[in-house]
Amino acid sequence: MPLSRDTKYIKSISGRVSVIGMGTWGMGGGFWSPNYSNDEDWVRALRRGIELGMTLIDTAEMYGGGHAEELVGRAIRGFPREELFIVTKVWPNHARYDDVIKSARASRERLGTYIDLYLLHWPAPDVPICETMRAFEKLINDGIVRFVGLSNFDVGGIEDARHCFSKYDIAAVENRYSLLHRVDEASVIPYVQRNGMLYLAYTPLEKGEFASNEFLRRVGTKYGKTAIQVVLNWYVNIDNLVPIPKAGRVEHVEENAGAMGWRLSREDWEAISNHFRVK
Ligand code: NAP
Repeated sequence: MPLSRDTKYIKSISGRVSVIGMGTWGMGGGFWSPNYSNDEDWVRALRRGIELGMTLIDTAEMYGGGHAEELVGRAIRGFPREELFIVTKVWPNHARYDDVIKSARASRERLGTYIDLYLLHWPAPDVPICETMRAFEKLINDGIVRFVGLSNFDVGGIEDARHCFSKYDIAAVENRYSLLHRVDEASVIPYVQRNGMLYLAYTPLEKGEFASNEFLRRVGTKYGKTAIQVVLNWYVNIDNLVPIPKAGRVEHVEENAGAMGWRLSREDWEAISNHFRVK
């Protein structure tokens, strides 16, 4: 039986990913600084999430100065590699051609495996986008990464990057999106959907704020689900979109995985959507 039983097909990668992923910001340290104090718990949480079918994992070279990638590398050991989808990112200070290559190789070392999706973490204003994309092409050619994408980009920026490619294309975009942060509904999400790309929604739990939301809790009682499971399932119903809630604790991971394998009714989905829409 495959690890992930609730998946969505994404045309740009010609394959399926779990409908909910796992984020790792704050695990293994902070902004370029490692923290080794909780390694066993972090690895345990990620392994539990994989067991429960959240096989897409998001990390970055910046997270803990690479230590988050090391934790991901430890957590995935022993699982069938082809069932996992590992996402990592290069920080914009490494967006020059040679630096991108160096960063990706270092990430691969820390992960102990190839990278499924490699993202430019933020736009790098001082580096021509085509220079970074040229390095991305080289990484695909060399088998270090399978797909490439962008994080924190608008449609104009995505189009600029796509124009750099002759052989490949942008497969994914990772931006901030939640029920309370819906800017991308106007342009980036429809664009990504039209082009068959993957959209990774970061900070989907608004840092945990939804846990105590009374409206979501009330909807959840119909399904025997928590407020967090309702909001995550709301994202599951959006084409091409995968939320990546932070996966730092076993109890959170177990709760988040409970958002898979069922669906909100159309009426409840609409009611939630309208309730949180900024009037
Ligand atoms: P988030 O997932 O919306 O919220 C994380 C917070 O929610 C943490 O405090 C976590 O608790 C808590 N949490 C997780 N599951 C919970 C549950 N079931 N019930 C209650 N609270 C829960 O925000 P995020 O970490 O900012 O975003 C998610 C991921 O997106 C990151 O981990 C990172 O991988 C990625 N990201 C990417 C970018 C980018 O620029 N590309 C930017 C930000 C984030 P604990 O702290 O106790 O674990």
